[in-house]
Amino acid sequence: MYIPSQYRYKDMEYNRCGRSGLLLPAISLGLWHNFGGVDDFHTARMMVRTAFDYGITHFDLANNYGPPPGSAEINFGRILNLDFRQHRDEIVVSTKAGYWMWDGPYGDWGSRKYLLASLDQSLRRLQLDYVDIFYHHRPDPKTPLEETMAALADSVKAGKALYVGISNYPPEQTERACDILQSFGVPLLIHQPKYNMFERWVESELLTTLHKRGIGCIAFSPLAQGLLTEKYLHGIPQNSRAAKPHGFLHKSEITMEKLLKIQKLNDFAASRGQSLAQMALAWVLRRTEVTSVLIGASQPVQILDAVRCLKNRQFSNDELMEIDAILSNG
Ligand code: NDP
Repeated sequence: MYIPSQYRYKDMEYNRCGRSGLLLPAISLGLWHNFGGVDDFHTARMMVRTAFDYGITHFDLANNYGPPPGSAEINFGRILNLDFRQHRDEIVVSTKAGYWMWDGPYGDWGSRKYLLASLDQSLRRLQLDYVDIFYHHRPDPKTPLEETMAALADSVKAGKALYVGISNYPPEQTERACDILQSFGVPLLIHQPKYNMFERWVESELLTTLHKRGIGCIAFSPLAQGLLTEKYLHGIPQNSRAAKPHGFLHKSEITMEKLLKIQKLNDFAASRGQSLAQMALAWVLRRTEVTSVLIGASQPVQILDAVRCLKNRQFSNDELMEIDAILSNG
C-alpha cells in the first residue's frame, strides 16, 4: 500500500495561476511519453508516486497520449484508483482534445462535436467524474473560435471540468479566446505553450498578453524533450526518447551545433552547482509570467533531479547574458 510522504508540501513552491484562485506547483508532471500501453506500468506508477511525494500535485494528460492513443489516460486512471483514491482533492488533473483521436470527421481539431465527445471518453478512461482543467490542444483554422470556446465553457457548466485552457495558440487568438470565454462567464485559466532555451517564441508577445489578461502559463517541454540535459552529450543512449521508434524527439534534431551549445550550458550549470536540467528549468521559471514548468520523465530519479532546481532559481544579469551568448553564438 502506498502512503504518501508526510513532508510532501515542505519544499515545493505553489504559484497562483494567472488571476485565478488555483495554485499550481512550480513543477508539474506530463504523461505524454512513458505512461502508455507500450511502457512499463510499474515505472509509470513509481513516477507518479515520486512526483506526489515531492509536492507535484499537477498531472497533465491529453486524449491522445500513449501510444496507443488513450492508454496514458487509462494507466493514470488505474494509478489514481490504486494509490490516490484518498487524495483526489489534492491533485489537479488536466486533459486536452485537439489532435487526431479517432477516424472520421469528428475525431480531430476543434468542433463542439469532437471536444465534448472526447472529454466524455477521457473521463471514462481516467475513471473520473471531472477533470480540473480541460484544454483545446491547438488552434483550428477552420472552426469558428466561438464554437470551440463555447464547447470549453459548456464542459465547465456541465461539471465535467473545473477550469479551461488553450494550448499552442498565438497571442492574437489567445486574446480573442479570452474575450469569448469571458462572454460565457468562464475565465480562461491557462495557456500551455512550448518554452525552453532553444524555443523562445513566447517571449516576443505571448507572455505579455498572458500577464495583461491574467492568464496563467504552463511551459511544456522545458528540457527540449531531454536535449537540455547531459543525456545526449556522448551519443544517443538506448531507451532514450531519441532512440525509441515512437519518440517525438528525432535523431536529426540532435545536431552538432546544438551539442556544442549543450556542452557549454552543461559546464555553465556545473559552475552554478546544479545539473543542466535544473538550470534549464530554473531559467524558464525566471519569467514571472510562468506559473509552472511541465516536465516529462522516464524514471523517478529524473523527477528528483527536476525538483532540486528550486534550490537555486536565481540568475544574475551577467549569468543571463552569458546564457544568451551561448544560445546565440554557440
Ligand atoms: P521535457 O522537455 O521535460 O522532456 C522530458 C524528457 O527529458 C524525459 O522523458 C527524459 O527523456 C528526459 N529527461 C528528463 N529529466 C532528465 C534528466 N534529469 N536527465 C536526463 N534526461 C532527462 O518535457 P516533454 O517533452 O516530455 O513534455 C512534458 C509534458 O508537456 C508532456 O508530458 C505533456 O504533458 C506536455 N506537452 C504538451 C504539448 C502540447 O502541445 N500542449 C506538446 C508536448 C508536451 P528520456 O525518455 O530520454 O529519459
